[in-house]
Amino acid sequence: MADNERTTCLVVGGGPAGMVLGLLLARAGVEVTVLEKHGDFLRDFRGDTVHASTIRLLDELGLGEEFRKLPQSRLETVAFPGPDGKIVTLGEISRLRPPYNYIATVPQWDFLDLLVDAAKQEPTFSLRMNTAATGLIKENGRVAGVRYRTSGGETGTIRADLTVACDGRTSLLRDEAGLAPKEFPVPFDVWWFRLPRHEQGGPVSGISPRIKGSELLLTINRDDYFQVAYFLKKGTNDALRAEGIPRFRERIVNLAPDLADAVDTLTDWNQVPMLDVRLNRLHRWHTDGLLLIGDAAHAMSPVGGVGINVAVQDAVATATLLAEPLRQHRVGAADLARIRRRRWFPTVVTQTLQRVIQRVLVGPVLRGEITSFPKAPIFLTRHIPALRAIPAYIVAIGPRPEHAPDFARRP
Ligand SMILES: Cc1cc2nc3c(=O)[nH]c(=O)nc-3n(C[C@H](O)[C@H](O)[C@H](O)COP(=O)(O)OP(=O)(O)OC[C@H]3O[C@@H](n4cnc5c(N)ncnc54)[C@H](O)[C@@H]3O)c2cc1C
Repeated sequence: MADNERTTCLVVGGGPAGMVLGLLLARAGVEVTVLEKHGDFLRDFRGDTVHASTIRLLDELGLGEEFRKLPQSRLETVAFPGPDGKIVTLGEISRLRPPYNYIATVPQWDFLDLLVDAAKQEPTFSLRMNTAATGLIKENGRVAGVRYRTSGGETGTIRADLTVACDGRTSLLRDEAGLAPKEFPVPFDVWWFRLPRHEQGGPVSGISPRIKGSELLLTINRDDYFQVAYFLKKGTNDALRAEGIPRFRERIVNLAPDLADAVDTLTDWNQVPMLDVRLNRLHRWHTDGLLLIGDAAHAMSPVGGVGINVAVQDAVATATLLAEPLRQHRVGAADLARIRRRRWFPTVVTQTLQRVIQRVLVGPVLRGEITSFPKAPIFLTRHIPALRAIPAYIVAIGPRPEHAPDFARRP
């Protein structure tokens, strides 16, 4: 057991929020340790999109050139699948000011590896993979750090001036701190599985939606396989599984006939895990010694694919506002409260838009209640093309985008 380890800022979770925070604080000269429970970044699905505001941030951090070398494709429209099978384009991201006028779809592990490589160049940065936080250390009513366990079974404690929970939507640290998010209804869950990709070519990470009637499926190109997301009405998981795998294979082929020669590889429900989609947020993002950001503070729906970017922006705001107090080892409650104040508006606006789209479009489509896309937005964006810049800005840049603080900028 390794005891009495210490750092200035302890970040729990090496997802987009945790890695960006680790990188930026290390560039500020703050001693920072990131704990990540997995051994690599090739794991559960957490989205592949890197939005224009995050691409601009990467340029400000001096990482834009490396980022553009990663395998990626570009999304230049904001489009929704209509129940009649047609894609309805409401926004044109290409109308925004170049070069930040597209969304890149990049395998998330490549994006995270890029951040890790940059962070490792800073002497005050430390990353502990295969290390899961198992509980909070509380001293005199204050969070003083965490207990951890490595994948090899070694246990220990790390104390810190500040612990930041970036441990995602099922945050253990949030539970341990006794904080409960307010949950909003979500009408769907996602089945997440792989199918072989016989004909290779095309961009890795290109995303194709397929819709028919009340069914919706997304395929994401990988090197030699498709990553597939099948959307199902919340609460129908058991009933659909009871229909059996052969019926599910039929459903897939009905939606995507080109996958007919791939579906035979699906033989067992263990190959098809369900992602429980959630939309929630905490009212309070900190306790004494502990701050929560990213999905740990507000789980985002996949609608609009903005969760990674909101998490990244949280991390930038946190580093900007806390670097100096951390350097001086005096982070107080007032400093922590400023993070939530700064990020509350973009979080609430984004989640509200997601809830509206879920309520008026995704839910009714999956329930088979509407057979065509609402006509007013189509009419308006077709006849006044300049309006297509509005949804494009909301999705690709988002409300209150953050910029890299001076201490983190590199040419
Ligand atoms: C079905 C679905 C599709 C989505 N699609 C998109 C999309 O296309 N684009 C998009 O931008 N967003 C998408 N999102 C949302 C996006 O995935 C999240 O909003 C984003 O990943 C949040 O980043 P994060 O860093 O806060 O948390 P996460 O990405 O969840 O990272 C948390 C990290 O903490 C680690 N961790 C957890 N517990 C511990 C512990 N105890 N100790 C140490 N480490 C721990 C985890 O291993 C993980 O690496 C989608 C979400 C869902 C559910």
